[in-house]
Amino acid sequence: MASDPLSLPAIHASHVGIWIADTHGRVQRVGRGEAIAAVAATPHLLLNATLTGDRLGYPELSGLDLLELFAFLYPARFAVPTPAGIAATIGITPPKTEEDIAAFLPQATAAMLAGIDDPAWPEREGAWHGMQALARQCWPWAPLVQPRPTAPDANERWLFARLPEWEEAPPRAAPRQVRVNPDDVTARLDRLTGDGAERRPGQQEYARATAAIFEPRERKDAPQMLVAEAGTGIGKTLGYLAPAKQWIDQSAGSVCISTFTKALQRQLSRETERLYPDAATHREKVVVRKGRENYLCLLNLEDALQGGFSGRAAILAQLVARWAAYTRDGDMVGGDLPGWLPALFRRNGTTALTDRRGECIYAGCPHFRKCFIERSARAATQADIVIANHALTMVQAARPRDGGAPATRLIFDEGHHLWDAADSMFAAALTGQEAVEIRRWVLGPEGKSRGRRRGLAARLADVASYDEAGERAIQAAIAAAAELPGDGWLGRLSENDPWGAIERLLAAVRGQVYARAVDTRTADAGYGLETELADPDAALVAAAAGASDAVEALLRPLLALGKRLEALIEDPPDWLDGQARARVDGARHSLGTRVDTLGSWLSLLGRVGGPADPDFVDWLAIDRYDGREFDCGLHRHWLDPARPIADIVYRPAQGVLVTSATLRSGHGAQGWTEADIRTGARHMDGSVRHFAVPSPFDYARQSEIIIVTDLARGDLPALAGAYSRLIEASGGGALGLFSAIRRLRIVHARIADRLARAGLPLYAQHVDPLDTGTLVDIFRADPHASLLGTDALRDGVDVPGESLRQVIMEGVPWPRPTILHAARRAAQGGNAYDDMVIRGRIGQAFGRLIRRADDFGQFVMLSPSFPSRLLSAFPEGTPIRRLPLDEAVNHVAAANVERRKTAFPAFSPS
Ligand code: SF4
Repeated sequence: MASDPLSLPAIHASHVGIWIADTHGRVQRVGRGEAIAAVAATPHLLLNATLTGDRLGYPELSGLDLLELFAFLYPARFAVPTPAGIAATIGITPPKTEEDIAAFLPQATAAMLAGIDDPAWPEREGAWHGMQALARQCWPWAPLVQPRPTAPDANERWLFARLPEWEEAPPRAAPRQVRVNPDDVTARLDRLTGDGAERRPGQQEYARATAAIFEPRERKDAPQMLVAEAGTGIGKTLGYLAPAKQWIDQSAGSVCISTFTKALQRQLSRETERLYPDAATHREKVVVRKGRENYLCLLNLEDALQGGFSGRAAILAQLVARWAAYTRDGDMVGGDLPGWLPALFRRNGTTALTDRRGECIYAGCPHFRKCFIERSARAATQADIVIANHALTMVQAARPRDGGAPATRLIFDEGHHLWDAADSMFAAALTGQEAVEIRRWVLGPEGKSRGRRRGLAARLADVASYDEAGERAIQAAIAAAAELPGDGWLGRLSENDPWGAIERLLAAVRGQVYARAVDTRTADAGYGLETELADPDAALVAAAAGASDAVEALLRPLLALGKRLEALIEDPPDWLDGQARARVDGARHSLGTRVDTLGSWLSLLGRVGGPADPDFVDWLAIDRYDGREFDCGLHRHWLDPARPIADIVYRPAQGVLVTSATLRSGHGAQGWTEADIRTGARHMDGSVRHFAVPSPFDYARQSEIIIVTDLARGDLPALAGAYSRLIEASGGGALGLFSAIRRLRIVHARIADRLARAGLPLYAQHVDPLDTGTLVDIFRADPHASLLGTDALRDGVDVPGESLRQVIMEGVPWPRPTILHAARRAAQGGNAYDDMVIRGRIGQAFGRLIRRADDFGQFVMLSPSFPSRLLSAFPEGTPIRRLPLDEAVNHVAAANVERRKTAFPAFSPS
């Protein structure tokens, strides 16, 4: 291979066309067949092989991917994975048109490789060793990169030597009881927003109101609780951070801020830098925490580097090792690992690098003292501010771990999502997949599985060899776990040849679901199938009895083992040194989680053929994707999932703030009633305060709502046509929201090429092989781009400025008519419940549109029969027009022209 990148061929493929730059830099537009023949014959430079392969219709495409080179040279650095994004990050001129991209790629490669010769290259340490390992894996870049970094001296620290060790610290004392003076809060807010910044009365009122949650609690189980709605643009985060920091300084306490989306976690991490301007202090005082499955497990990485991975996955492991040496916190999902990196490897291997199955061996692990998860958990006990997510905050409230006083003040931002977060967190499911997980946790890997994964006996080897009662319990658990489904269970079910008590139960569930469920033959056909757990047939009742015995047989020894481990900690024998103690402690915790799961299974099984519990909704389901089954079992959800939030999370706290821009899904007092239902505040004995401050935005001037009145429901060609015309009319900058993935895909397939030819790239969740965060980054960076997506885009996208100027909703987001929804609907007022859910969703979608005082945008609802009663989902005073499509398109186009003349002079659509 040529060692000069400027003499390598390069390819760029998009919805517009395909271009190849030859080895002399001549660019030619080529057809698909010619392009595939060229890339199959010679490795080409390209940017994002997965996406390019997708555009070529050639998924096996490989070559010299600039994104892989970027990940090697600049680990843990952010870049939008497009030619313009890479150009901006490395400081070169971006290509002007699609035609220029193929010729740009060799230039960008040369600039990146030249950086290796720069003595100031910050990520030099470890590069030489990483390069040698990648060369052994035949990484396509190796011949170009390998000659460049000079061999380091023998003392260079490589990954595991480079990572710092965490230190044990004494538990944090309980906070002092203090009162926060509202004037101090105002002064603090002024300092945080900056001298000379315009005072925002709404933000100040909000900050003073939220200070109430820091007052001393007056009664046990009755925290100082405030439910506060702060319209978009108030500056809510600094509004609550100001009293929080005032209280932290006075009380020496700690505050937990919980969010639903990773995007808000990132934003909060940045905003808290104003509280702690010194970077080292910020790292110590503010800790972002996520579930352990988000973090890199160093032991799994070591396994992967030492031969556990092969082929492309082995290259990914090397690039992850480069990143691990430079990451801030080891967070692989939404942290500083580029979201696009796993997608380049088709996610092959990424999950095996995290600790997804609870197989951590804690102090038995050689990397325990450097482990990212352990470091983050310890750092959180010492931090002033812990930024967590709703699920983790609930888990920790439900199963607190030892280690210092927990945060007594809780702030739930994105509080409108508490209901959904609790709905998953406090649910129970006895399904094939769940049972396989528990079997693996007890028995370890079976069959041909590779790697270090080990079962309970290996994790507790010292208990097994020194403690007779412990060893008996472990062996009994192993014998009982063998009754749970193992590999191949789905195949056995489809052949009606179940093995063991749980598989027999699943077979009976499957039979009953197929007998009773209604396949809707709608957009969701081929996906979930479900039926109520009511009047079960005799086969299911008998199978449930057998399954109960099997679950109890496993639960008994696990409970005994848990008691044994507790006794060892309380009265430690000689052999229990510090390491063994930490191992036993870790095992106790993961044991507790499994014991809880098995307990929930028993109560669910007791329900089969028994009386219904009015607090729960139980059903049987088969999970399918495109008609292919992947799971099956029994499910139980709380009828009102906000109840356990109140009991488990709110009551033990001293102060709780639940806040959001859209807590009330409508105007007026009725809104608070609904907010109290959705947040669980109604279960708090009337001691909850409410506060609302409207958005400072002038929605009447900055936005309008267009309801398209002549689009027939279910007419997909017409729907695609409407999206295409509206996107063209606004010159891109559109966020298209769908309720069903199938419709999204059909619309995208019909319009993407046409829009691309007009210079308006269209990206889509569930279509483009990129993670949601990366898609939003690309959308944000290009004002001509548009993005289609589903719920995740409706709820958490923050794209201020000209990149987002139109939101198009495919219709009223009716809730799916599931058994769970029907039960809640019946319990909470029928249509009124539906309306509350829909208004919440529409309010969220509308909330994406105006993020700044200088934003302007249109919200288009493609629904001819949009009910007037739902209009209260929009901010009061926003103009609403009901127009046929032709007029709507003209209206959007006219507004776009007007906008270019006034608000966004820099904007010039193609
Ligand atoms: S302590 Fe556990 S999670 Fe951490 S690196 Fe070791 S095995 Fe992985």
